[in-house]
Amino acid sequence: MKNKNIVVLGSVNQDHSIQSKYIPKIGETIEGHSHLLAFGGKGANQAVSASRLKGNVKFIACVGTDSFGRDAIHQFIEDGMDTKHIEVCNGQNTGIALILVDDNGNNIISISANANALLTKDIVEKNHVAIQNSDLLLMQLETPMDGIEKAIDIANKSNTKIILNPAPAKTLSDDILNSLYLITPNETEAEILTGIKVINEETANEAANILLEKGVDNVIITLGENGAFFADKNERYCVPTMKVKTVDTVAAGDTFNGALTVALSQNMTMKESIRFANIAAAISVTKNGAQPSIPDLGTVMASFKSDEVLV
Ligand code: AMP
Repeated sequence: MKNKNIVVLGSVNQDHSIQSKYIPKIGETIEGHSHLLAFGGKGANQAVSASRLKGNVKFIACVGTDSFGRDAIHQFIEDGMDTKHIEVCNGQNTGIALILVDDNGNNIISISANANALLTKDIVEKNHVAIQNSDLLLMQLETPMDGIEKAIDIANKSNTKIILNPAPAKTLSDDILNSLYLITPNETEAEILTGIKVINEETANEAANILLEKGVDNVIITLGENGAFFADKNERYCVPTMKVKTVDTVAAGDTFNGALTVALSQNMTMKESIRFANIAAAISVTKNGAQPSIPDLGTVMASFKSDEVLV
């Protein structure tokens, strides 16, 4: 069966990460013991995850005219992505994220959107054919809301299924929720969307009920090292993930979403797709950085077949 077409819409960032023993408190300066400059941005990470895992991926995004924007596009091409729908915006810098990681893999992040702020409805409209010709549209919330709403509108009119990873966390209108094939919040995002504090399978189930009532077809709540919880109108289950040594959780959720979308585009069942996504994400937490930590298909398949993480 032919692989379905995927279009990802979202952000591109240059990530500067500094790792230190602990994350400094307000007013405190501490010395880090490593610095990593890497490609990131939730949209780019998810598009790279889907491309490295051999999905047919187009990416709608905005970068600046700085060298980082050019380098990012070269990297996307190397990862096998269709970059024709990435706008290079005159006089703009590419987005920047400053990330502090502690030795347990916890992080805090501050972002300057830069060119990402230009991914508004006009640019989305200009690239409408990429959405119309795709079976699955994967988005996050790191770019302007009017662009996201425009993409939803185009997707709804062309029977393109919408997968929304609602990160960073924001409340969403009932109209948006009602238009989604799948929503994939983590515990914090699920709480912001539903008011339910998600701490285990039972509370994930309560939060999922609220999202299903609002008209989302399928809900996956990611539960960090506990894997992911799935709910639709007919069934509910938890898919555990692999036990790994956590080095850096940056982009775990992005790797999960890209991998999940590829698996669904290749007609895997929902349960298999979640298992595939869990494995890809578990592998990503064993390595530093956003895109440097995203695995390729061979690495994920080796673990998928053997039922243990082989890294
Ligand atoms: P989160 O955004 O923290 O819920 O993580 C997204 C996905 O990444 C989870 O559903 C897991 O598949 C994976 N993941 C995150 N943290 C870990 C971890 N410590 N060990 C293994 N997998 C993880």
